[in-house]
Amino acid sequence: MPVSTPEHATTHDLTSAGFSTRAIHAGQDPDATTGAVVPPIYQVSTYKQDGVGGLRNGYEYSRSGNPTRTALEEALAAVEGGAAGFAFASGLAAEDTLLRAVLRPGDHVVVPDDAYGGTYRLIARVFGPWGVDHTPADLSDPDAVLAAIEPGRTKLVWVETPTNPLLGIADIAVLAAHARSAGALLVVDNTFATPYLQQPLALGADVVVHSTTKYIGGHSDVVGGAVVVADGAQLPVGLTGPTGTTSVADAVGYHQNASGAVAGPFDSWLTLRGLKTLAVRMDRHTANAQAVAAHLAAHPAVTEVIYPGLESHPGHEVAARQMRGFGGMVSFRTGSEESAVAVCGATRVFTLAESLGGVESLIEHPARMTHGSVAGTALEVPADLVRVSVGIEDLEDLLADLDQALAAGRDA
Ligand SMILES: *Cc1c(COP(=O)(O)O)cnc(C)c1O
Repeated sequence: MPVSTPEHATTHDLTSAGFSTRAIHAGQDPDATTGAVVPPIYQVSTYKQDGVGGLRNGYEYSRSGNPTRTALEEALAAVEGGAAGFAFASGLAAEDTLLRAVLRPGDHVVVPDDAYGGTYRLIARVFGPWGVDHTPADLSDPDAVLAAIEPGRTKLVWVETPTNPLLGIADIAVLAAHARSAGALLVVDNTFATPYLQQPLALGADVVVHSTTKYIGGHSDVVGGAVVVADGAQLPVGLTGPTGTTSVADAVGYHQNASGAVAGPFDSWLTLRGLKTLAVRMDRHTANAQAVAAHLAAHPAVTEVIYPGLESHPGHEVAARQMRGFGGMVSFRTGSEESAVAVCGATRVFTLAESLGGVESLIEHPARMTHGSVAGTALEVPADLVRVSVGIEDLEDLLADLDQALAAGRDA
């Protein structure tokens, strides 16, 4: 049975609408039955058929399709400028499904040399034993990426920009051209930048993935992931998908249903609620982060500040060209592991926690927390590195908190 793609009647054309209009309205027309102005939580597993095979709007069973999830998927596709969106139970579930849809044993993948730790673990430790090879490369150096691509064998170039936690910047348009000429797909993990600040598909990427757990959800209350596929994106040269086509969207849709790691209705609803305010939140995250970065750069207890919005950042010009703003993530070094750990333990407004992208500010020590799983690999991060996810609280409170924590770190 082919997967039925539920059809959602969109009454107004949003193709030329601005970002926030799409985020608030795409896939989210008032409910046909009641006029409810936001899509209801369709907490349901199955749907009455009008005679055998007589599906209403394509809905059959909620793994295959659920109206709340459809609303989220249409909104995600609209904000990324893609042809099809797919929502998953987590960012890693989204990545896993995409990788299974587009790779086969014997294939090779180029990965960032400071990729999100969980992405690296998935590719190296889960896909490795299934016969998928990988090469870490410094994505801020297009020649290094070109050197890592093995024509004929490399089927996918995985891009993060900015990277996590070192905030490296990759030139998406240049890497997309390199991937295309090798017959490989370019996938961009757009979690850090968000579709508001960066539009990878317009820059030539084939697929965007997200951990919607972060900025899109935005309130640290839901785990989710997304895959958005560019219009017309084709599987790597030589591969035909399970539906008999070479369409990436067909293959991902088939795998989403066949593997089943879908986003549930309540999670979809929360994520959609977050998406509506993404633009206003990102403006504030970005303004606060820029000010935090400047403040830290002038602080005697900080040896280096890494933020693409600083002119000292080697990727500043590329970031300025391909991003609307530089985002809410700032990393800095304190000179020693002890002081970095002490600073992380001394903040009062910044909460010591993994994850990022919520309205509240978070602080963490990557080497011992988020990036513990890559210790001893090419992706190991400096021991004196501190990463902050700058929230949307009042700036003065954030700066004062960092100052008192840095003072505590200096005494450590
Ligand atoms: C968190 C994160 C992921 C993984 O997403 P989950 O929702 O935690 O599964 C992938 N990429 C990046 C950049 C992330 O920050």
